[in-house]
Amino acid sequence: MTAPFSWIRPEPHGIHVVPADIWVDPSRAVPRALVTHGHADHARGGHGETIATPATLAIMKLRYATSDGARPVEYGESISLGGGVSATFLPAGHVLGSAQILLEHAGERVIITGDYKRAPDPTCAPFEVTPCDIFITEATFGLPVFTHPPITEEIGKLLDARTENPDACILVGAYALGKAQRVIAELRAAGHMDTIWLHGAMEAMCRLYEEHGVMLGDLRLVSDAAKDQMRGAIVVAPPSALNDRWSRRLPDPITAMASGWMRVRARARQRGVELPLVISDHADWNELTRTIAQVNPQETWITHGREEALLRWCELSQRRARALALVGYEDEDD
Ligand SMILES: [Zn+2]
Ligand SMILES: [Zn+2]
Repeated sequence: MTAPFSWIRPEPHGIHVVPADIWVDPSRAVPRALVTHGHADHARGGHGETIATPATLAIMKLRYATSDGARPVEYGESISLGGGVSATFLPAGHVLGSAQILLEHAGERVIITGDYKRAPDPTCAPFEVTPCDIFITEATFGLPVFTHPPITEEIGKLLDARTENPDACILVGAYALGKAQRVIAELRAAGHMDTIWLHGAMEAMCRLYEEHGVMLGDLRLVSDAAKDQMRGAIVVAPPSALNDRWSRRLPDPITAMASGWMRVRARARQRGVELPLVISDHADWNELTRTIAQVNPQETWITHGREEALLRWCELSQRRARALALVGYEDEDD
């Protein structure tokens, strides 16, 4: 008999599912990959076969212009990977198409969360708590100082700034995959139906979300606008464009940024952000600890961020845990 869980092996460049010879979110090209979601630190082009949800595959096709070897799996569908291993994709609540992957072999159940959050998000299916033996969790915001406020509060700040500055525009820095669409959808939910202006780099992903049923209202490109048309408006751009020449075409922009890191004042100052919005697509400290308690695995493996504090929390609450040292996970997507 083989040792328990010897079939799943964390290696520096990904998690190797040995009997099926397949990798989860590998950081280099492999013959067979399971991909949790479309962010660049998890999804890479060039794999022989890529197994992911249909939305993640569409995102990968858009970003890497390739769909070779794409094998779609719906949420809740179980597939056989060979070697007596099966995989089931479960919603992770992180971005469109994002999945936790449940792997089963010889009666043992392992879940790899990828990135996830528990806060509601109108642009993707909510995280499903699923029992397992080993729970491999991300820990991007794995420190007690990281608490994300309800998004309605942050959207309220954004709308207030707009009302108070009718002759300016509010320029919101937001990652092109996930954050931008979530901010726009939450603005719509808060009753803001005016045109939202987009940086050109946002357009294709917003359209992809709409094709997957996430309605974003009237979106237009900044490049098609006269400067005065954008007074009193909200403009969404990638964070890299905030302090770029590009922003000179905007009328007196007030710079905002939607990120979990905006909890850290120094980070906001560094980027010249006047209106920090603490909006994250990752679980905060409370969501991480609550999720581990609810899933209640035999063992928790922690990766992808600040492992130490969460490891300590597990020990103090009598839970077995270990930190994994995977390389290549930089948050594109905080
Ligand atoms: Zn991500
Ligand atoms: Zn990530």
